[in-house]
Amino acid sequence: MIRAELRIDLAAIVANYRTLAARAVAAQCAAMLKADAYGLGMAAVAPVLAGAGCKVFFVATPEEGRALRTVLREAEIYVMTGYQVELREVYRAYRLRPVLNTLAEIEAWRDGPAAVYVDTGMNRLGLEAAEIEALLSDRGKIRFEVAILMSHLACADELDHPMNKRQLARFREITDRLKSLPALKTAALSLANSAGIFLGPDYHFDLVRPGIALYGGNPFADRPNPMANVVEVHGRILQIRAVAAGECVGYGATFTAARPSRIAIVDVGYADGYLRAFSNKGSALIAGQRVPVAGRISMDFLALDVTDIAPGQAEVGTAVNLLGGGLSLDEAAVASGLSCYELLTLLGRRYNRVYLNG
Ligand SMILES: *Cc1c(COP(=O)(O)O)cnc(C)c1O
Repeated sequence: MIRAELRIDLAAIVANYRTLAARAVAAQCAAMLKADAYGLGMAAVAPVLAGAGCKVFFVATPEEGRALRTVLREAEIYVMTGYQVELREVYRAYRLRPVLNTLAEIEAWRDGPAAVYVDTGMNRLGLEAAEIEALLSDRGKIRFEVAILMSHLACADELDHPMNKRQLARFREITDRLKSLPALKTAALSLANSAGIFLGPDYHFDLVRPGIALYGGNPFADRPNPMANVVEVHGRILQIRAVAAGECVGYGATFTAARPSRIAIVDVGYADGYLRAFSNKGSALIAGQRVPVAGRISMDFLALDVTDIAPGQAEVGTAVNLLGGGLSLDEAAVASGLSCYELLTLLGRRYNRVYLNG
């Protein structure tokens, strides 16, 4: 290894897709590819998901949709940030389908199938109650085929959260009424993200939309992670320093050696997404042994206290495992106070990216 490496296991993504699709066996399983496939690289991830049978993909922006269209010629691509007429040419040229979030967007769209998003209590995007009534009272308002009628769960990662049942009931009530409109007769209903899939068949409807679980993130807030690990980050030791008791390490001098110490400087920093939140809190694995981060994370470097590692096992050039492998995303999330969504989408562009099992 010549520099820090980000390893992405494409076979693990396929395995996770199959696990999720099998859990929601009566529904179609789409995939979320927003934010460049949660930071893992849409251009590499999308083809393997398509190869595993995925036909419907969601991205956040028209730019992401355009990038995805150059990778997948056939897929249905939905763009979640809605529609305005200025974007008409982009949607048309790249055969993108908008997820329409407001009445104004529904009135502006007339270029083929689209998704309609209804709010069921999260109050992020989606039609409000009054807008739904407006659609029901003017039955000609929708002048296109609604291919997907969707909403989103706010608390699905907590299986017993009362919001889940409340949103489910609201979704049923709204979709029952909207299905009476001619444009919505054949719409696929969709409510579940990764965590929603684990809430059980009541939540699956016609289409599920997992993201984080495909990429090895834990769909549960408070249970062990059932998904296969996808991402590993490995840094490289650039220098080993002998630090006397009482000496400090790094910016702000936030680490003071309590004993004569050996400190390893590693080529990963906050510019690689290993944020300062890990300062004096993160850990790494060297030859299977756990070592703590010493002091603040710098832009390009971090320091590890390797005093307890046998000298031959931590030398210039030794690889250190910072994420994945024996260091789960969950553990890194607890140490840093970041979510596994943030840990993945923060992964920097500077790593030597290696796609395994493609
Ligand atoms: C991000 C997102 C998903 C996927 O959520 P995960 O928790 O990553 O599975 C599904 N639906 C919508 C609307 C989203 O924004």
